[in-house]
Amino acid sequence: MNAEEIYTLTIDGKGVATATASPVLDPATQAVIGLAPIADGDCLDAAIVAARGAFGHWRDAGHDVRARSLLDLADAIAANLDDLSRLLTLEQGKPLARAREEVMGSAFWLRSVAARTLPESVNEETADRRSITRRVPFGVVAAIVPWNFPLLLAVWKLAPALLAGNCVVLKPSPFTPLTALKLGKLARGILPDGVFNVLSGGDDLGPRLVEHELVDMVALTGSSRTGQAVMRTASAGLKRLMLELGGNDAAIVLEDADIAVAAARIFQSAFSNAGQVCVATKRVYVHDSVFDAFFERMVAHLDALKVGPGHEDGVEMGPVQNLPQYQKVTALIDRARSQGLALRSAELRPGLDSGLFIAPVLVMDPPWDSEVMLEEAFGPVLPIVRFRDAGDVIAHVNAGEHGLGGSIWSSDLGRATALAHQLQTGMVTINEGAYLAPWVPFAGHRQSGLGVENGQEGLLAYTQPQTLTTRLT
Ligand code: NAD
Repeated sequence: MNAEEIYTLTIDGKGVATATASPVLDPATQAVIGLAPIADGDCLDAAIVAARGAFGHWRDAGHDVRARSLLDLADAIAANLDDLSRLLTLEQGKPLARAREEVMGSAFWLRSVAARTLPESVNEETADRRSITRRVPFGVVAAIVPWNFPLLLAVWKLAPALLAGNCVVLKPSPFTPLTALKLGKLARGILPDGVFNVLSGGDDLGPRLVEHELVDMVALTGSSRTGQAVMRTASAGLKRLMLELGGNDAAIVLEDADIAVAAARIFQSAFSNAGQVCVATKRVYVHDSVFDAFFERMVAHLDALKVGPGHEDGVEMGPVQNLPQYQKVTALIDRARSQGLALRSAELRPGLDSGLFIAPVLVMDPPWDSEVMLEEAFGPVLPIVRFRDAGDVIAHVNAGEHGLGGSIWSSDLGRATALAHQLQTGMVTINEGAYLAPWVPFAGHRQSGLGVENGQEGLLAYTQPQTLTTRLT
């Protein structure tokens, strides 16, 4: 990767430089690693007008042409695995091995989505009349993504949106725009001009994109607060929405769980990507009878975790991605400490002071209504509490504002399934952390989201029904 690389927007199939740009920082050092163009109002208009202009041809090009383009884009991503992964580690902070997984996962997702179809359904077929319903695209989709998985979450949106026949304007987070800009560059020449545009910019760009009159649908991954703001703005045009928002996923460890397996997997779920995963385990409820054994194992995992810059061999956890997030998470830890909660923290090795590194923390048995239990930390902090009655846990979890995922840990699959049915969340796993795959629908209940991503339902989300009835006699 070339540190001097010039990043450009992608508008109507061409690279566009801007008058102003903003520095992008490596969270492991806070050094400037590139300059991201700042799209002004003219760029925004040009991208949306290009998308609108390309829409008719793209919609009518047919499923096979669109699927072929997704496969070609997947090949281009895979062919640039090394560059994209290094850039992703540099701008996001995650260990290089995880960045490679994200890049290959993005190619895999594109290929998997390309294999889907949108069948017509026949409502009535008689001698007099034939009535069918087919699925048609909306038009221009604004895809807005956060900084934790800048490439994969962009692909989660653009793959089904494009396959269904929509055109896309992608807006990455101002903290991690570079991989998305690179994706736009790779797509030039693969996708027809205007079909896929990428705009980076400041905090005002997202709201302006959402309110633009030529945008038909907004697909956002972000915080619940941003989801509310997007919903308000989009209401003026009754725009279609797909919102994947925050979570505060609970792991519930029953007395008959395999404690070694549960501790290893829950630790992984909580601390991978430095806890910056919407479906990370963010609080653990452990049956009183196995609490001490479970906590002891979690401490052993904590002490063994190798924290450092993502490009270093063997590193398992990198820095937190940006300064506001670092300040938010460290303030949460400080308040927990000043409230007298029992914190068990790992030691950071020397030499990490210039980066946004946070020593991972376990909070031992805080009150269920403490801030650390109720707030989504989105960082390497995990509260672990005791329970005696699983019914109390279910009631507590269901009373919260989030309903993204959750997990039940038990050797009695019947009992675990019965409890899973009581959890009011979009996804529940038994004996593992969140399971994500292109064929598995991903949905949030309550303030965790609106609509579905992935799976056939996730493809349908980028379409609307059109019913065609023909009188034959
Ligand atoms: P964020 O909500 O601050 O930003 C997400 C994106 O929205 C960014 O591109 C941002 O620039 C843009 N944005 C912000 N305000 C906007 C507005 N008013 N209108 C339009 N766009 C706007 O979130 P973040 O801090 O980047 O990411 C962390 C949050 O995302 C966490 O709450 C996390 O749980 C959530 N998240 C959810 C999922 C999921 O699939 N459910 C996945 C990853 C992250």
